[in-house]
Amino acid sequence: MSSVDPQRRVVSGMRPTGRLHLGHYHGVLKNWVRLQHEYECFFFVADWHALTTDYGKSDHIAKATWDMVVDWLATGVNPGSANLFIQSRVPEQAELHMLLSMITPLSWLERVPAYKDHQAELKEKDLATYGFLGYPLLQAADILAYRGGLVPVGADQVAHIEIARDVARRFNHLYGSETDFEANAEMAIRKLGKKAGRLYSELRQAYTSHGDANALLTAQALIKEQSNITLGDKERLMGYIVGMGKSILPEPQIILSDAAKMPGLDGAKMSKSNGNTISLRASPDKIEKKIRNMPTDPARIRLTDPGEPTRCPVWQFHEVYSDEKIRATVQKNCTNAAWGCLECKQLVIDAIVAEQAPIRERGKQYEENTDLVHSIIAEGTERARDAARATLEEVRDAMGLAYR
Ligand code: ATP
Ligand code: MG
Repeated sequence: MSSVDPQRRVVSGMRPTGRLHLGHYHGVLKNWVRLQHEYECFFFVADWHALTTDYGKSDHIAKATWDMVVDWLATGVNPGSANLFIQSRVPEQAELHMLLSMITPLSWLERVPAYKDHQAELKEKDLATYGFLGYPLLQAADILAYRGGLVPVGADQVAHIEIARDVARRFNHLYGSETDFEANAEMAIRKLGKKAGRLYSELRQAYTSHGDANALLTAQALIKEQSNITLGDKERLMGYIVGMGKSILPEPQIILSDAAKMPGLDGAKMSKSNGNTISLRASPDKIEKKIRNMPTDPARIRLTDPGEPTRCPVWQFHEVYSDEKIRATVQKNCTNAAWGCLECKQLVIDAIVAEQAPIRERGKQYEENTDLVHSIIAEGTERARDAARATLEEVRDAMGLAYR
């Protein structure tokens, strides 16, 4: 078994299909910044994923890639703590994608909701392609190549992470390696202390006489029989042996922020393709103009009409940007028509402009120093490749492609 602890590894990527927006910031980037000091982080530009939808016209990808890396750095993603890299510079991820395709039933990919939804939304593009169907599997390979246990993304990614978990489970079921049994039995003994000593020797015996195929069943029976360990400890012991014992590729877990589905200017999810975004590092003028033009409660026609915040997209911004006290004031002045909508919007404008000021400033410094940005990516890519190479060696061996 490798020495990587998946619970300490974080993996996440973004597609370079346009400028990043406040949804990316509140939904994902703030989590990246929070996690980077405590975990080993792998953050990548998903340029292959951009090609799955933009293959027909792809000349924007390179520029969008560098803009995005600057956006990350501007929000406080720290290249000293996290590995930043470009997906297409790590061919091991493509190899893993291909290897995993051998064991992935087509029906798993066809049933992903985003597959049909996006095909319908992006009608002008022909998305009846092999690459687009494989989008979630490529994403699974991105995560599993680093044995990432934790994946900070937005709420729209839940189904994709589920596929990654299913694929990892199937892989481990098919190729879980024999030596892991011993390693994990040992770990279980260490955790449970002496009382499991006798059990361990029995497990070992069962393992040597029956081999890996039957060891699991024998272990289960043996553990059940034990009278000197509690039920909880029995479950834990089995967990170590069955769960971790078989995992070459750990099953990742999603990490969602409080704004896992940040709304846009029209109240729908903020998204490049919905055209309802405020970009990161937008100028104060632009922020002001966009918020001032936002629709509000449609029932509030005259200034004297009382408003209802739950019907108003601006209120959704207050839920992200305002503290409880401000929200209470807004609520009161809206429902009793004491404020016009512009007064309410001004608070949001001020909050966004203040939030963006240091991000804009830091972004400018990186924009003026392209060499630095390029070298950050070059170093991150090296480290990412090392990690992915180690995984692929184990994966190839496990799948029977060991030539020594
Ligand atoms: P597109 O419209 O092309 O799908 P997008 O704006 O949705 O673009 P993606 O590149 O698909 O952006 O998303 C990158 C990451 O940001 C994903 O983890 C996604 O879940 C997250 N994300 C995107 N939009 C939001 C949002 N409005 N709120 C929270 N998270 C978001
Ligand atoms: Mg999206």
